[in-house]
Amino acid sequence: MKHPYLTDDHEIFRKSLRKFLEKEAYPFYEKWEEERMIPRSFWTKMGEQGYLCPDIDEQYGGSEVDWGFAVVINEELERVGSGLVGVGLHNDIVVPYITAYGTDEQKKRWLPKCTTGEMITAIAMTEPGTGSDLANIQTNAILDGDHYILNGQKTFITNGIQSDLIVVACKTDPKANPKHKGVSLLVVERDTPGFSRGRKLNKVGLHCQDTAELIFEDCRVPKENLLGEEGKGFLYLMEKLQQERLLVAIAAQTASEVMLKQTIEYVKSREAFGKPVSKFQNTQFKIVEMATEIEMGRAFLDQLIAEHIEGKDIVTKVSMAKWKLTDSARKIAAECMQLHGGYGYMEEYEIARRFRDIPVASIYAGTNEIMKTIIAKNLGL
Ligand SMILES: Cc1cc2nc3c(=O)[nH]c(=O)nc-3n(C[C@H](O)[C@H](O)[C@H](O)COP(=O)(O)OP(=O)(O)OC[C@H]3O[C@@H](n4cnc5c(N)ncnc54)[C@H](O)[C@@H]3O)c2cc1C
Repeated sequence: MKHPYLTDDHEIFRKSLRKFLEKEAYPFYEKWEEERMIPRSFWTKMGEQGYLCPDIDEQYGGSEVDWGFAVVINEELERVGSGLVGVGLHNDIVVPYITAYGTDEQKKRWLPKCTTGEMITAIAMTEPGTGSDLANIQTNAILDGDHYILNGQKTFITNGIQSDLIVVACKTDPKANPKHKGVSLLVVERDTPGFSRGRKLNKVGLHCQDTAELIFEDCRVPKENLLGEEGKGFLYLMEKLQQERLLVAIAAQTASEVMLKQTIEYVKSREAFGKPVSKFQNTQFKIVEMATEIEMGRAFLDQLIAEHIEGKDIVTKVSMAKWKLTDSARKIAAECMQLHGGYGYMEEYEIARRFRDIPVASIYAGTNEIMKTIIAKNLGL
């Protein structure tokens, strides 16, 4: 089915991106998983082809295209594997903070390199002691002359090891009441004194995705690296979370579609008791149930993408899509693995990797429980 917000231009773009990924990503993905890292050369190749931040202004290196192109990029990356999530995070989560709240000087300094892949970005909100309760972060930045002195620790940071530019959520006013009014966003550059990286974290899935701890010890961040205004960081984060959660929903939906397609192919080719497994009624009912769930998910998601592109505030509906589609994907991964029998548990079948990768989508970008608290509040409960 053709997505209603996509034109022929998007489909031409999709074809060339898929061709690019067939050459530059699919054949290496398993190796990247073993090495627990995507090489920087993949980023720069993406940049050369215009696949990094294509929506930003031409003067900063972008192509000023609509967000439908971002949807195509994220879907095609997810089709390769969920471990490429860091590219989407760079394009559509971190860089948008700079384009929305950065000064012209900051944009000129950073954005062109973000489009070429010379600069990989990350966003650091979560700390060892707090994730969901963002207003309670302890990392603080105190102004001292022309610098902020940043102290604290972050964890679970996507692109943590490779990042050159990190948007760090911190307290510039640790005593602010209410707490969230003390939160600001500081941009920390790779070689800033006092900044170091901790462990590269060993995860259940997303093996090629780099996830790490970041440490700031009397880290001297130039005053001009403040993003937007002091004390408005929490507000900025809330404003951008709609897009972040929509991206997670897009990835989950794409993963479900991929898993179903692979499973249909498998059950048609595998025989038991003298006939294809696809001919058992249980298999058919499971497949039908998943196909129905996926079809409904796609219809809802497409509507939300179209509304997001129109600039509508759809926080409640995006929170619904985020929890529901990631929850569905997790259940679909388990059903698809079951229908593969023993082979589903073997690494040579992609369903095994998908099964490991998908549960995190219910956890990051705000847990599914937090999505439900947002929806409940917005329903007036
Ligand atoms: C692979 C991966 C990549 C990540 N990438 C990033 C990144 O790039 N940048 C970043 O800043 N963070 C990142 N995160 C962190 C992620 O956003 C947090 O893990 C998530 O927000 C949950 O926070 P927490 O782990 O501290 O869990 P907690 O907040 O401690 O939650 C524990 C449990 O309690 C539940 N809970 C908490 N509060 C409530 C409530 N009010 N009502 C009901 N239930 C509640 C949660 O839903 C969860 O089930 C990443 C995490 C992972 C696993």
